[in-house]
Amino acid sequence: MHPTEFQNLQNMVLQAPIGICLLDAKTMVTELLNDKFLEVAGKPREAIIGKFYWEPFAEVRELYEDALKNVALTGEAYHANEVEMVLIRHGSEEQVVVTFVYNPIKDDSGKVVKIAVWVVENTLQARARNEIGALNDRLTGANREMQTANTDLSLLNSELLLSNKNIHLLNLRLQESETDFKRLVEQAPVAILVFRGPDMVIDLVNLAMLEILGHDASIIGKPLLEGLPEIKGAPAVDQLFHVFQTGEASDGNEEPVPIMTNGVIETRYFNFSYRPLLEKGKIIGVMDVAVEVTAQVLARKNLEANEQRLQSILDTMAEGVVIVNASGQPTYANTMAQQIMGISEEQFHDRTYNDTKWHNERIDGTPLPREEHPMYVVMRTGLAVFDQEIGIVWPDGEKIFISVNAAPLTGLEGQINGGIISFTDVTARRKLLQQKEDFISVASHELRTPVTSLKAALQLLDRMQGNITPEVLAKLLAQANRSLNKLSDLITSLLNSNRISQGRFLVNKTTFPISALLQDCCQHILSAGSHEIIRQGDLEMQITADEQQIDQVLVNLLNNAVKYAPQSRRIIINVERQIKAVKITVTDQGPGIPADQTSHIFERYYQADRSGGELSGLGLGLYICAEIIEKHGGEIGVESTVGQGSSFWFTLPL
Ligand code: ADP
Repeated sequence: MHPTEFQNLQNMVLQAPIGICLLDAKTMVTELLNDKFLEVAGKPREAIIGKFYWEPFAEVRELYEDALKNVALTGEAYHANEVEMVLIRHGSEEQVVVTFVYNPIKDDSGKVVKIAVWVVENTLQARARNEIGALNDRLTGANREMQTANTDLSLLNSELLLSNKNIHLLNLRLQESETDFKRLVEQAPVAILVFRGPDMVIDLVNLAMLEILGHDASIIGKPLLEGLPEIKGAPAVDQLFHVFQTGEASDGNEEPVPIMTNGVIETRYFNFSYRPLLEKGKIIGVMDVAVEVTAQVLARKNLEANEQRLQSILDTMAEGVVIVNASGQPTYANTMAQQIMGISEEQFHDRTYNDTKWHNERIDGTPLPREEHPMYVVMRTGLAVFDQEIGIVWPDGEKIFISVNAAPLTGLEGQINGGIISFTDVTARRKLLQQKEDFISVASHELRTPVTSLKAALQLLDRMQGNITPEVLAKLLAQANRSLNKLSDLITSLLNSNRISQGRFLVNKTTFPISALLQDCCQHILSAGSHEIIRQGDLEMQITADEQQIDQVLVNLLNNAVKYAPQSRRIIINVERQIKAVKITVTDQGPGIPADQTSHIFERYYQADRSGGELSGLGLGLYICAEIIEKHGGEIGVESTVGQGSSFWFTLPL
């Protein structure tokens, strides 16, 4: 090789994307180093060059001084693979991960004369791997849904392991490197290619490069695009020609290049440095020093894809998921968690699970002590908590119930790093349960009243046997009858409501005139004489429906009008023919219903203000009406003005 070329080659390596530093083996004084080394060291050239090696690296001297001495003594290389250390870079302490080799360089007699320090920084890769660890942790805590993602992650892990092996191979090659600087270059772990002339004729290629390119030495002497047609069109190739044309050095970072791999063209990724090759001031070629980073790039891409996938799984889950750190501070909250808690992700970061602005309660409404909070239990004991229901009172007073699963996130040494908490909003379920409990007490009360009255009538009849006047007899019998009817009505309501909830409510349709229906359902009110009933509109229409059920709806609405509008003398029933339906409206002139209640009164068990005392009921009447009308394909509703009265209406399709 021509001396200037050798000089160039040496310059190339000095600019290579791998840190190199050459020491005198006896004095340990640094004689030569490249920019990459300075970059990893984070110190200025003057602080290192010409200095005793440990002077600028006092912070790690204790750790590695013996190892370096040993290389000079024994002539055996020292390898450190992905070691963590604190380096003072640009004046401040930094936690870094590096892989380095102390490589002895011997003279002909085998005496160690120099030591080459080769170094690569792995901080980012190590961090990426840690993230995978954290992700895996998240997964263990999360749901079944995520198991597939988990498999992907373990694949990813093995890929990273592979890339680690590559680094290891690199080290092995370093170990084998020869004493001579040129041989060192030829066997360097970095791939080197030298091009010459405007066609980029391949002039020199080292083993590492041939291995990467998947070609043998026969490419030497061929123009680049002829020898390696597969790389045509890659931006990295254009960049190479550009260096030849302009003489400007340039570097590439994680550049994709199509490479022949086992006979197939695959995209692989490289960090490279292109340096112009000069002879007497003229550009005669370009040198390319490259390090393959495919494994790292793919691992990172994969990680990103997985992260994204995990994110979309978490965000479409029907459960809220929150991840907290060791001090209970949320570090992540998925969309559902934000929705259930009614706060944004940023707001989540500001609150801890035992934030005093949010009152946590037990199911019975008593305050939930900190020690009983599922997250606290998990952090304390390291054991998972399943299906614990707690109440949360928002700062604005609204209360929700959530069912919580919580699990610890543990680090490698088993220490608890935080926790994952998943929860569902069970407020509706809780409320229904509460309503049912309330209902049972209402129902027992409701049933007791007519039973007491019936019992009283029967006792009197029993006591007065033989000497009873016909008037008293009639009165007592009427009382017993009323009570029995009331009981029978209540039981019918209960049965109907039960049938509805079990889906056993069948509609048996016939066609009948509406007038007959209106006649029957009013009878009991008219005979009581307290209210006047006005029937108006299209009374002669025929409808097709379950007559008994529609009768029940009308009776319910009329009874309510009597019950809740006792002062209103008049009840109006209006029949109106619409385009495809008939609309029947029952209007009273009673107290009316406040607007905030009208949307609820058709709900099961719903009763408006019960302070009226004997205005009793089960809260089932309108619910049953609504169900019947729905089963018929019609609609039901109410218009009401407080102080003026209510109009309950329903439609039936014709
Ligand atoms: P209940 O068995 O309690 O009567 P309903 O389902 O029939 O149950 O009615 C629900 C609530 O709607 C009642 O508690 C009452 O407060 C209100 N309501 C129903 N009809 C009227 C009406 N005509 N006027 C005023 N309030 C009414």
